Amino acid sequence: MTADAIDEVQRRLERRLKTRVFDTYARSSVGGFLYLVAWIPLVYFTGMHARNPLVAVLASAGFMCAAILRKLARPPSHAADAQRRWINRYIAIALSSAVMWSMMQFWTLSSGDVPTLIKAASLFGTIAFSTVLAHLYTTLLRLSVLGIAILVVPSAVALWVDPALHVLAMATTLYAGYLVAATIRSHADYRRRLDLDAALRDQRDRYEHLSRTDSLTGLCNRRTFSETLNAQVREAQWLSGAGVALALLDIDHFKAINDRHGHVIGDEVLRQLARRLENAFNGDDVMVARTGGEEFGLILRDADEVEAMIRVEAFREALQAEPVVCAGISIPVTVSVGVGRFSIVDHRDDDGLYGAVDAAMYAAKQRGRNRVVSVSMLSSSLPVRVRAEGLEAG
Ligand code: GH3
Ligand code: MG
Ligand code: MG
Repeated sequence: MTADAIDEVQRRLERRLKTRVFDTYARSSVGGFLYLVAWIPLVYFTGMHARNPLVAVLASAGFMCAAILRKLARPPSHAADAQRRWINRYIAIALSSAVMWSMMQFWTLSSGDVPTLIKAASLFGTIAFSTVLAHLYTTLLRLSVLGIAILVVPSAVALWVDPALHVLAMATTLYAGYLVAATIRSHADYRRRLDLDAALRDQRDRYEHLSRTDSLTGLCNRRTFSETLNAQVREAQWLSGAGVALALLDIDHFKAINDRHGHVIGDEVLRQLARRLENAFNGDDVMVARTGGEEFGLILRDADEVEAMIRVEAFREALQAEPVVCAGISIPVTVSVGVGRFSIVDHRDDDGLYGAVDAAMYAAKQRGRNRVVSVSMLSSSLPVRVRAEGLEAG
């Protein structure tokens, strides 16, 4: 497995963990209050408030604390380790309510002076809580199975001890078995849903990537290029100090390269030129794109026109000095380039800038190709050839 593949698996696992953590919280954060709602009538009908007021008050406070803690335990949105720790803490809080309920239930079922009807009603509460656990915690199998066991086992033991309650004991045991089976099954369904979500998300990311990338060279395509140019020009329109320069490069006599060496070699020339552009313009401040057949574009954030020209001219010279080599054939490749910096007065918007730079690129063709022409040179109508060391009238 490559390092990239390992990173990808790691990312998926972390995304999955995050989904489980947030699903768990969204489903069950108010669950603690249900215990309180069931506990208060149980205290009243069993007469516990009169016989054991301290236990009644302490248990009420315990249920209340657990319910509030659970509601307040918002999961962390980052860091897998913190999310794993959150799961353990959350399980402990959720199970503490189940433990308290179960202890009270055991006492209710075992005490001789509680009427059978009250026992049945409180058993109904236990069955309801374990059903809710099985239903809600499909995200955390450990929590739901452990919770069901904590809730049901003491009650079942108390019921099995009293021969008069064996029918209820049998029904409770069978129902708990069914709940465990159901929770295992719905947990498997939940995992399948997570897998499906992950597959759909991957597919969407792949399509998104394809729709933004040029398939031949792997560079950004025209759509991405236009969107970025539009966004950066808008920024330059509204923010003083923000600026953007644009360069359009067109390979000279590319048709002749295709005619002489064939389209396959022509494609390889395009790919190699793309790599050279990426290597020459590799900072966060530059976007390199293939904007058409044998045309490429550069968006240089915050560059002024002279700075952009010097960088592009250095590239043009390096390309001229070192021919592209495809299948052992050395192929001289040159480019004609138009360069311009956005000005709200001269260009108004991104289309205006694009048109002006395109015109500069065509001027470079007309003036003999293999050269860089800027928008301001064009407007001063001087036939100018730019060299890396400065601007020189040609
Ligand atoms: P100029 O110096 O005026 O730009 O001449 P040119 O030959 O480069 O320009 P022209 O527009 O006449 O021809 C462009 C050629 O680029 C024609 C087309 O077949 C070729 N082309 C466009 N896209 C591709 C591609 O993806 N692969 C290959 N191999 N050739 C392509
Ligand atoms: Mg062209
Ligand atoms: Mg061309």
